[in-house]
Amino acid sequence: MSGNESRLSAISRISNHQRIAVEATQSLDDIWATDVFNLARMEQMLSKSAFKAVRTTVQTGAPLAPAVADVVAAAMKSWALSKGVKFFSHIFYPMTNITAEKHDGFILTNSDGNAITEFSGSLLIKGEPDGSSFPNGSLRMTNAARGYTAWDPTSPAFIMHTDNGSTLMIPSVFMSWTGEALDKKIPLLRSNAAMDSAARKVLTLMGETDIATLNSSCGAEQEYFLVDINFANARPDLLLAGRTLFGASPVRGQQFDDHYFGAIPERVQIFMQDFEDQLYRLGIPAKTHHNEVAPGQFEIAPYFESANIAADHQQLMMTLMKSTAKRHGFMCLLHEKPFAGINGSGKHVNWSVGNATQGNLLDPGSTPHDNLNFLLFCGAVIRGVHKYGTLLRAVIASASNDHRLGANEAPPAILSVYLGDQLENVFQDIKDGKIASSIQGGEMDLGLTQILKFERDPGDRNRTSPFAFTGNRFEFRAVGSSQSVSGPLVAMNTILADSLEWIAEKLEAELNKGTAKAAAVLSVLKGLMEEHGNVVFGGDGYSAEWHKMAVEERGLKNLPTTADALPYLRDEAIRELFSRTNVLSPVELESRFEVYAEQYVLSIEVEAKLVIEMAKTMIYPSASQYLGDLSTTQCGLKDLGIEMDGSIAKSVAAETNAMVAAVAELSTAIARHEFDSVEAHMSYCADQIRPLMDKVRTHADALETEVADSLWPLPKYREMLFLK
Ligand code: ADP
Ligand code: MG
Repeated sequence: MSGNESRLSAISRISNHQRIAVEATQSLDDIWATDVFNLARMEQMLSKSAFKAVRTTVQTGAPLAPAVADVVAAAMKSWALSKGVKFFSHIFYPMTNITAEKHDGFILTNSDGNAITEFSGSLLIKGEPDGSSFPNGSLRMTNAARGYTAWDPTSPAFIMHTDNGSTLMIPSVFMSWTGEALDKKIPLLRSNAAMDSAARKVLTLMGETDIATLNSSCGAEQEYFLVDINFANARPDLLLAGRTLFGASPVRGQQFDDHYFGAIPERVQIFMQDFEDQLYRLGIPAKTHHNEVAPGQFEIAPYFESANIAADHQQLMMTLMKSTAKRHGFMCLLHEKPFAGINGSGKHVNWSVGNATQGNLLDPGSTPHDNLNFLLFCGAVIRGVHKYGTLLRAVIASASNDHRLGANEAPPAILSVYLGDQLENVFQDIKDGKIASSIQGGEMDLGLTQILKFERDPGDRNRTSPFAFTGNRFEFRAVGSSQSVSGPLVAMNTILADSLEWIAEKLEAELNKGTAKAAAVLSVLKGLMEEHGNVVFGGDGYSAEWHKMAVEERGLKNLPTTADALPYLRDEAIRELFSRTNVLSPVELESRFEVYAEQYVLSIEVEAKLVIEMAKTMIYPSASQYLGDLSTTQCGLKDLGIEMDGSIAKSVAAETNAMVAAVAELSTAIARHEFDSVEAHMSYCADQIRPLMDKVRTHADALETEVADSLWPLPKYREMLFLK
């Protein structure tokens, strides 16, 4: 198809869209976790002792005996076969932001030629996919091709269905032959262990005797766009880059604020319900959904779960969102900025830490004793964000998230902490020594009573903060919508572990001096706030004043692009942080830098090539055809003695020439391949390539508003955003 034929036919197909047939909804009881081999199911199928062993592993991370693994494998197999499953797969989480799987049949044949099924503990425990095709950075040198997957018994196995088959999926870690982590799950599990061990030290010093295993929790709010698949198919940029590389702003965008929390379009609601029923079958607790700020933008959030399971579930959600959207005739866009000038998509990662005995340690609670624990944990987070803000920025760095973070859109690329008025006051008072002085003999009076008064939801929310305390958790709001939540969770757990270790040391020293507990806590926190209180900020994070103040007065870093942020993974302090906490060895950390740097450069190169191709093969032809039409008409009229205003033709010609010139510049720029370092290559992409892409786009978008609509080949913003 040429010209605007494909666009027109997309519009007509959308206008005549036939809804897909969906099944009538079933009750939650009937569908909840039917496709999950969870503890409840194991309790029914395993012997008492085997079940107890598995449950202990799930709850505490204790190792599972091989004999028990055999028993679990047998039960898992018979459950899966009873549900029509013929294949199984370890599912793992490589350093891409998507999952990987290698399917194996349960089938074997015996000497009589009969098919039998087999699935032993050893098959459950270990798989061996070829590791060489997954990104592994410098680890490639040391590990050659071999990679292993290993069962993670703490995340339940589940079944994925297609119309004519089903596969048992077994959540797994992925490592090299030499034992290095090649995935996102191993560091997450390690960071949780580091946090557990440090938290235990602090809680023990605080006099706690019964301390259950501590775990981090995560509830991630996922924003996304839906675009009709017919439009998406006519947009090479949406298909290959996940965002529009061209597109003039529509005369109507989100300025009416009429989409946020508005009535959900019926077609979208049907999609959401279908999607959520699938989540329920997989034991994923979908909880809220609503329209987001931009037209065509929506959000879904599950109820929070332990971080490891939440991370696996979040990944599964992204996969299912895309496939379910397709069945409903939509393309689901998880890109952080699919449409210029329109709100982008983030993923708010809500995070807290706690256990069965002390509860949520980021919940202020209602007793002094809880409050002291809370203040220590909250203080630990403040210190962590201040000390390792660059790490938090680096783990959310990607070519796509740069469009939000560096670009005057929520949230800024400067990491600060929002506490809310009441809590901010409490920490300010601690810093000023106002509370410390009022404590006598281990008993807390006035000053500390004051602390008790703040409520679970202290005051307003601050939508402009990248890292906000929201009542009983922190919300990392700068995470990108297409990202795995693992990186951010690893960073948060690790900086918390580090701060808690630091606190334990200081606290122990104070207590050894004979200081009473409460006074010791407040003294440690006073020191902490004096050194790190600068990161607390309750004002408008978007404002120019903050950008200036943050950098000049508070010494915080503003890192607008991935090229600025990612190199911090090579920072000595961050390398030490990860080594000390045993979360990532230096070589594992370096491999992550290399992989993410490569992904950044590659995605910008792909986009740049696409800009050139689309400008040359789609936009230039339509502009020149329009010029041809205009000149033919104009000459014809002239023959009849009628003069026509030539200003439009002149302007189209000028924009076309300027676009062609910019395309030439961009082509020359991307031909350069020699760089002194990866960092230099990244900066080149950020400082040279990206602006040239924008330059081409400016002229192309100007043409879109001048060239005859009937000749324009690409679906327009107004169509993609408003036609459902
Ligand atoms: P909002 O948009 O108001 O921030 P949502 O209800 O959309 O809130 O999402 C909040 C997310 O935070 C949910 O996933 C919720 O389960 C999660 N959450 C609530 N409490 C905690 C907690 N203690 N730890 C981690 N996540 C939590
Ligand atoms: Mg939120």
